Amino acid sequence: MAEVSSPTPLTSNGPNALARALGLLGDEWTLLLLRFALLGATRYNQFRAELPISYAVLTARLETLVQESLLERQVYQENPVRAEYVLTTRGRSVWPILLYIWDWERKWVPEHPEALPTMRHRVCGAEFAPRLCCSSCDKQIGVSDVDTDWGPSGSWPRSVPDVATRRRSRGRHRGGPPGFFPETMAMLGNRWSAAVVGAAFQGVRRFSDFQDSLGIPPSLLTERLHDLCAHGVLTTVRIQGRSDRAEYRLTEKGRGFFPIVVTALQWAERWYRAPEGPALRWHHRECGAEFLVVLTCDHCAAQLSGADIDVEPRRGFGQRRGSAVG
Ligand SMILES: [Zn+2]
Ligand SMILES: [Zn+2]
Repeated sequence: MAEVSSPTPLTSNGPNALARALGLLGDEWTLLLLRFALLGATRYNQFRAELPISYAVLTARLETLVQESLLERQVYQENPVRAEYVLTTRGRSVWPILLYIWDWERKWVPEHPEALPTMRHRVCGAEFAPRLCCSSCDKQIGVSDVDTDWGPSGSWPRSVPDVATRRRSRGRHRGGPPGFFPETMAMLGNRWSAAVVGAAFQGVRRFSDFQDSLGIPPSLLTERLHDLCAHGVLTTVRIQGRSDRAEYRLTEKGRGFFPIVVTALQWAERWYRAPEGPALRWHHRECGAEFLVVLTCDHCAAQLSGADIDVEPRRGFGQRRGSAVG
């Protein structure tokens, strides 16, 4: 069975790669299923053993992941029919996003409801943190080192996930996911929150500028800004001499989300392609090259690959090795 490993073509003037990918990945169940798939789970009962997920929700999410070509359904028994769900190249390539979600939650969410696993780099044996680097010059990249401009398919209206592709963000009520990545979901799990965070990274600071660039209704914008401030991602700063005006700025915690944004958006552009061209153009300011991300180990400086990362404690998902994230 040939694996689908080419990008999905998008329709012209429709939702662009960013909207499509955020619509898919801004769902906690989906991220959790991908996480366990990367750890080697392929079968219903393996996912069910790890997650308090109903059959209906599990079936729906697996179907979506098959439709989006992140998983491939393979029948391993005919009578009765039993299938397993195997990661495609596209599915495996989400590992940098999940690695950074883990890294960010570990740093910024001290009372994490789930004990986060330890990640070890198989090459050097160290517990490590990933470093975001430029593929051209190998230098480490921070939020202020990259210039970002809209590409030919880029604009706010085309980048905000469609309501229809998006499930309502669930709290921790019965039936919803148990909050494995609570803070990440506060950023990604709501279409407008993701857009507000994206705009903040592009330098938007004022209420009216958020409103104008995103086309978001003011009541929703108030709610989203309040929520992001409550999560410590944005903070309000009074403008000197203007007691009536405030700006919203990313906090250190908010800026720390940059690697998740970068890896998610570059994944999006790799796998979804609008006929007009990319949604964003990135340049590393210092070397001038187009910015393509590579991840390195902060301990040994070697380039990371998903297969070189061990997760501890390991999980017994059977045939696959305890290889962590791809
Ligand atoms: Zn560079
Ligand atoms: Zn290392």
